[in-house]
Amino acid sequence: MDSGSDGLKIRRLQRRGGFMIAFVAIMVDTLRNLNERIIACRQCPRLVRYREKVAREKRAAYREWNYWGKPVPGFGDARARLLILGLAPAAHGGNRTGRVFTGDRSGDFLYKALHEAGFANQPTSVRRDDGLKLKDAYVAAALRCAPPANKPLPSEMANCLPYLEKELEILRPRAVLALGSLAMRALLWLLHEQGKLPSRTAFLFRHGASHELGTGLPRLFVSYHPSQQNTFTGKLTEEMLANVLREVRRFLEKDLPK
Ligand code: SF4
Repeated sequence: MDSGSDGLKIRRLQRRGGFMIAFVAIMVDTLRNLNERIIACRQCPRLVRYREKVAREKRAAYREWNYWGKPVPGFGDARARLLILGLAPAAHGGNRTGRVFTGDRSGDFLYKALHEAGFANQPTSVRRDDGLKLKDAYVAAALRCAPPANKPLPSEMANCLPYLEKELEILRPRAVLALGSLAMRALLWLLHEQGKLPSRTAFLFRHGASHELGTGLPRLFVSYHPSQQNTFTGKLTEEMLANVLREVRRFLEKDLPK
């Protein structure tokens, strides 16, 4: 290759690099705007009452905490190819710390696994300013407010899923990892409502399963939820979640970078 075509190639790469930086900046900005809207949301009166009551009354062990008490936005890398989807923040976890899967046993389990799989810079997630950074992954919940007894109403899910719809639109992830059957069903319901999936019942929930959803849609990976109920009983072990993340990694490596 002569020096002229070298120069051309370098200029092209620089131009592409410049576009990429601008593109990522726009995505960060768009996600920030979305997250501001989520945090300010009060669409579900029952959930607003509950999240604020929990924040006022607190759990004895967290008496010193200033609870977040608001909807919990998504968190992670604006260029993520993997979206990790849970159901909802925990009353004394995300609803206390303000970051999804942070400050509870589920989060301890999840972020340790993400760190070991190379998606997180550290294995712990305790508060919003603890230095945690995700790489190529973004974590969100189908419902942004902690529901009483972990049971949202269908109307509350319907109110909240447009936020996930927007996240999918902004991030355009190559893969979604649904943590638990409720998160998986929420995603399928949303895609079906959007007319992107002919059937939302065609995909079975099974730990370790992965589903091709269709052209233009992310590949769906499935895991049991890392709740204490599952991890303490051995229904979900560290190895089981590591295996799923390994599959996700393998899939992303075959895929083109964003
Ligand atoms: S659950 Fe979602 S829609 Fe309902 S108040 Fe919270 S953020 Fe808003």
